[in-house]
Amino acid sequence: MGSIWARALPGYLYKWAVPYVLRPGWETRSRNSGGFNTVKGIGIHHDASSKGGSADAAFQWSCFNCPSKPVGNGSLGRDGVFQLWAAGASNTMGQGGPLWTQRGVIAQNDGNATMFAIEAGNSGTGEPWTSGQISTYPRLCMAVIDWANHETPGPPMAVGDIFSHWEYCMPSTPGRKIDPAGPSPWLPSPSKAPHYPDIWDMDKFRASVFALTPTPPQPQPPSGDWIMVPRNERILDTRDPKWGVPRFGGNTAHRIKVPYPGSTQAMVHLQAVNPAGDGFFVVGGVQKPNTAMCGFKGGAGVMGQSLCFTGVDPDGTFQVWCDVSGADLIIDLQGTG
Ligand SMILES: [Zn+2]
Repeated sequence: MGSIWARALPGYLYKWAVPYVLRPGWETRSRNSGGFNTVKGIGIHHDASSKGGSADAAFQWSCFNCPSKPVGNGSLGRDGVFQLWAAGASNTMGQGGPLWTQRGVIAQNDGNATMFAIEAGNSGTGEPWTSGQISTYPRLCMAVIDWANHETPGPPMAVGDIFSHWEYCMPSTPGRKIDPAGPSPWLPSPSKAPHYPDIWDMDKFRASVFALTPTPPQPQPPSGDWIMVPRNERILDTRDPKWGVPRFGGNTAHRIKVPYPGSTQAMVHLQAVNPAGDGFFVVGGVQKPNTAMCGFKGGAGVMGQSLCFTGVDPDGTFQVWCDVSGADLIIDLQGTG
C-alpha cells in the first residue's frame, strides 16, 4: 500500500491562487492501492464529459459511479475551480509509459501509483476551454509541483515532469488517448501537427507553467531583533471578504501574508469566532506540532484566543491549520522580526 497522501496540498493551492473546493472524504479517498508509492509526475487530462457538464456530475461519476473509482485526484471544472476529491493514488492513467522524470523512471503501466492525476471538464470534441480553466491549469500544476517538492521524498520535480495523457501513452500504447485536446492557447502550430490540430502541444503548456517559476528568494541578513508594530494591526478577518481568505473548514489550511517584506518571524494574536464545534488552530509550517495552538469551544461569540509565534516563509506567508471543526479567524499582528 502506498503511504503518500496529498493532504497538505490545499495550502499550496492557496499559495498559487488556485480556486479550489474540497470534496467530502478527499483525505482518505484512493484506489485500492492506497496512497502514492512515490510521486514522480503529473498527468493532465480532459474528462470527455458532455459539453457544459457540471462539476457535481464529474464528482459523482469519478468517485461513486465509475467502476474504476476514483478517476483522478480531482477535476478542474469549467468554472475554473479545482475540486480535490482524492488525496491518494487514483485510476486514470492506465496503460502507458515508461516515462523518464527527475525522480527516475515511471515504469510501464505504473502511472496510477506514481502520478498525481488532474481531470478537467471538457468534452474533447471541440468544446472551447474556458478562461477560468486556461488561467488556472498552469497554476494548478505549479501548486502540485510545489507540494511534491516540499512534502514528498525525492529530488526536486520540474515542469518537465508534467505529462499529458497522450504523452503517457506514446511509449507503449501510442494513440490510445488524445487528452487534453480542444481550443486553448496550447494548440500546436499547423505545421507541427497537421494531422492532429486539436491535441495540445505540451511543450507550449509546460512553458506556461515554467513562466510561473518564482525567482529564488534573496538571502536576508540575519536578524534576531523583534520590531514591534505600533499597535495591533489586523492582517486577517475571515468574516470580511476583503482579506481574500475564506472561513476555515475543519481540517483546512490557509497561508496568511505578513505585510512586512523580509520578515522571518511573526508574533500574532488569534481569535476564533463563530466555531462550528470544538476545535483548534495551529500556526506554523506543520499541521500538528506540540505548541502554538488556539483552542476553541463550539458556540457563538469569541470562543478562543491565543498569542502565537511563528516563522515566516521566504514568500512572506505562514500557514494556519484548522483541525476538527471549522471557525472564522481574526489575526492581529503584534510584531515581526
Ligand atoms: Zn485522460
